[in-house]
Amino acid sequence: MTRINLNELDPSFKFRVARQPGGEGITKCFGCKACTAACPIEAVEHRYDPRKIIRMALLGMKDEVLKSEFIWLCSTCYGCREVCPQDVRFTDVMFAIKNLAAEEACVPPGLVGQKNILKKHGRLYEVSDFENEKREKLGLPPIKEQAADYDILL
Ligand code: SF4
Ligand code: SF4
Repeated sequence: MTRINLNELDPSFKFRVARQPGGEGITKCFGCKACTAACPIEAVEHRYDPRKIIRMALLGMKDEVLKSEFIWLCSTCYGCREVCPQDVRFTDVMFAIKNLAAEEACVPPGLVGQKNILKKHGRLYEVSDFENEKREKLGLPPIKEQAADYDILL
């Protein structure tokens, strides 16, 4: 059970989410739970519950939502969007919430590590001489690493 401290609620949080690209639909949710029933992630990890995340955001539980490890579990399959009777577009709401979490530096260390590797090498793993030698033996062209020339907000 999640305990709610009324003094720590941020009633403006839902409007902050709604102002983000993709977050506009959050206030249309009436809590029917069709998204949760359709979610393949919820099917294997019951603690991940799209409806619960939206209710927490609507209630103003900003810190609990932005610091939750679960907001990063969405696979962006868009299954919830297809069944939502209110056209909330929960997948896009999740992007909005994750962008706010990134702005407030509430990103899991593992994702920050991936971002650093991506920025440095232009891919999610380092390509060394060893890999290129193996590629040469297979008749494949070498891979040249290229650092990302854009900034990645995380
Ligand atoms: S299906 Fe839509 S309206 Fe129903 S709980 Fe999920 S987001 Fe809200
Ligand atoms: S988009 Fe995310 S929240 Fe929606 S059904 Fe797929 S995994 Fe679940």
